[in-house]
Amino acid sequence: MGPTKTDVIIIGEGITGLCVAYWLKKRGIKVTVLAKDSEVGGTMKSVQDHSFLYETGANTGLETTPLFKELVSDLKLESEFVYAHPEGKNRYILRDGILHSMPLGPGSFLSTKLFSLAAKFRVMKEPFIGRATKEESIAEFVERRLGQDFLDYAIDPFVAGVFAGKPEQLSVRSAFPKLYALEEKYGGLVKGMIKGAPERKQRAEKAKDRAETFSFVSGMQMLPHAIATSLGKSVILNAKVTNIRNLTTARNEPSNEPDARRYLVEYLHNDQETEMEADSVVFAIPAYDASPIIKSLSVDTARVLSSIYYSPIVSIFLGVNRENIGHRLDGFGFLVPSKERRKILGCLWNSCLFAHRAPTGMAALNAFIGGARQPELTTLSDERIIQTTLDELKSIMQLSGNPVYLHLTRWQKSIPQYEIGYQHKIDALAQFEESLPGIVLAGNYRGGISVGDCIQNAHEIAKTLSANNISIR
Ligand SMILES: Cc1cc2nc3c(=O)[nH]c(=O)nc-3n(C[C@H](O)[C@H](O)[C@H](O)COP(=O)(O)OP(=O)(O)OC[C@H]3O[C@@H](n4cnc5c(N)ncnc54)[C@H](O)[C@@H]3O)c2cc1C
Repeated sequence: MGPTKTDVIIIGEGITGLCVAYWLKKRGIKVTVLAKDSEVGGTMKSVQDHSFLYETGANTGLETTPLFKELVSDLKLESEFVYAHPEGKNRYILRDGILHSMPLGPGSFLSTKLFSLAAKFRVMKEPFIGRATKEESIAEFVERRLGQDFLDYAIDPFVAGVFAGKPEQLSVRSAFPKLYALEEKYGGLVKGMIKGAPERKQRAEKAKDRAETFSFVSGMQMLPHAIATSLGKSVILNAKVTNIRNLTTARNEPSNEPDARRYLVEYLHNDQETEMEADSVVFAIPAYDASPIIKSLSVDTARVLSSIYYSPIVSIFLGVNRENIGHRLDGFGFLVPSKERRKILGCLWNSCLFAHRAPTGMAALNAFIGGARQPELTTLSDERIIQTTLDELKSIMQLSGNPVYLHLTRWQKSIPQYEIGYQHKIDALAQFEESLPGIVLAGNYRGGISVGDCIQNAHEIAKTLSANNISIR
């Protein structure tokens, strides 16, 4: 008996892989998801324990695309879907040891003590700044357009919060393509926001600063769980892909018929060596996991994939007696700029965002340590990480006593860093895909790291694959 055959094999049970599979299946294509783990979700994992509900990875989603609502409606998840409490719009930034609300509009920008008067005047000069002449880091771009203070106290903490990264290392073009496009296309941020509004409206897209934050009653993992349930037996758990072989037979005679492309995927299913054949294979796994598998198809591509740096981070969940916190906890949480020289990147106030995250009288907090800013801190022992976190929270949000619940998640490779020159890597990956029709490299190292970006990219991939999948039976 030969290997099992399917139309498209999707490697990876994270949100990207599951969404590609979901939309392909909806178009009548036979799919199989090969999942390394014993449960789906990848970076989206929710834990319910001792009446606390917390996330070990993605904490919230941002409703930047209508695809979320489409999925929620298709999967009948309406009663599970929850928007964050309106207070969640309030985000704090630490300056000189004090938490300041991030201004949400021109009025609060003028009155805030987060930025100096000189910094506010400097931001107002933005429409008169010209275009860049070379590829810039986020730090260079923001410093040039909006000034040093805005970089230090708005963008630097934001980049730490979203990318676990440093603005000096990330490419503005690759990491914030929409921001970069405002300058490229319209000549500046303010001009772009005004002139680009009708186009964004047409695409039904919401800018990240205006999109609503959401989750699910039982946490973010609800979404991958529901997608996997709808895929049924098409998802094979405990199936770690180890190798891929190209069985494509190129036609010798010129012909209008496409080449009969075929790939053989080898995987360990519950430690048993197994094979499956397909016309297309989507790699929806981190670049460092894809690299050793791709090596048999292209050593150069494997090298590009392994060169993508993922910063390490430790996520610390704390269940705390509410009365032991001096701060009002009236917001999303806080972020810490590098300039403050602290040992913590920030802390989310989860129980303020969503109901039922902590027992009555308790608060659910999620702090982060490390990132590209201080990777060395992630190698400390659990005890030292916990003590460091508690010391910082005591000083920043007047925490006293000890937590009643603690959980640490260590991400040695958390988020891919779209560093300066990243576009060359992406171009090389696109060239590789062109040379091997049916092979797709997907995941959060291409086209954005947020759950919303992963879903949008998955939708595009499913559309393109189903349009090109000529040999589908
Ligand atoms: C700590 C942290 C916090 C985050 N917070 C947020 C947030 O609040 N909001 C937000 O929008 N985004 C957040 N993100 C980012 C977002 O969660 C991820 O970018 C997204 O979930 C990635 O999905 P993915 O499917 O591309 O990859 P992954 O989730 O990494 O899934 C890939 C899957 O592939 C599997 N796999 C790997 N190798 C193989 C193999 N050989 N064979 C078979 N399967 C394999 C793995 O088991 C894994 O499950 C966060 C990320 C981290 C790390």
